[in-house]
Amino acid sequence: MNFIFLGPPGAGKGTLAARAVSFLKIPHISTGAIFRAAIGARSPLGLKVKAIIDAGKLVDDETTVALVQERLAAPDAQAGYILDGFPRTIPQAEALAGFSRVDKVINFDISDAGVLERLGGRRVCRGCGHNFHVTFDPPAQDGLCVHCGGEVYIRDDDKSEAVQKRLEVYRAQTAPLIGYYREKGLLYDIDASPGIESMLSDFKKLTGSGC
Ligand code: ADP
Ligand code: ZN
Repeated sequence: MNFIFLGPPGAGKGTLAARAVSFLKIPHISTGAIFRAAIGARSPLGLKVKAIIDAGKLVDDETTVALVQERLAAPDAQAGYILDGFPRTIPQAEALAGFSRVDKVINFDISDAGVLERLGGRRVCRGCGHNFHVTFDPPAQDGLCVHCGGEVYIRDDDKSEAVQKRLEVYRAQTAPLIGYYREKGLLYDIDASPGIESMLSDFKKLTGSGC
């Protein structure tokens, strides 16, 4: 099954995807995580996108689509995938339709206030990419990752000006995808405000995964 996770920054897409891969046995493909890895490695892609991402803007469609097309061609994505953070514009969705089938689009519904609370407390592991939250899922006391011992940091784009910008960009460029996929009969809404456990149980219901 091919899933798309759609929703504002901080809605919990990445956190839910990380939990879902363990029972769906399909890869979690996050364009944001791929870009952050490229930035960390100082690769040509990383150098090209760093300033754009730090400012909370979108990387251009051509670069992003090429990256996703290549990633979806890998052997591990043939039995299904969770695409987290892509597509983020109508042209990206149209491009995706040209090289992959989409089965279900999960729309993460949350208010701007909810987003600000989540992102304000978000911390990310440099080692394994795990998303922590200072209140809901804190890292170890020494500030290291409880899963891999990696350094836990605050994303540059989680600082306040960039967060405002990302919310604006989401409402203007990404939210139109809700209507786009609803018309195609592919959209499933999840209330993202109550937290990860309730989202996980809603998601299991609509994927038909038991337990
Ligand atoms: P979040 O969902 O928390 O905003 P992501 O990790 O999905 O964060 O993305 C971080 C940043 O990476 C985005 O703000 C944007 O700059 C860039 N990015 C990720 N996915 C895309 C995409 N599909 N198109 C353009 N830019 C993207
Ligand atoms: Zn870690």
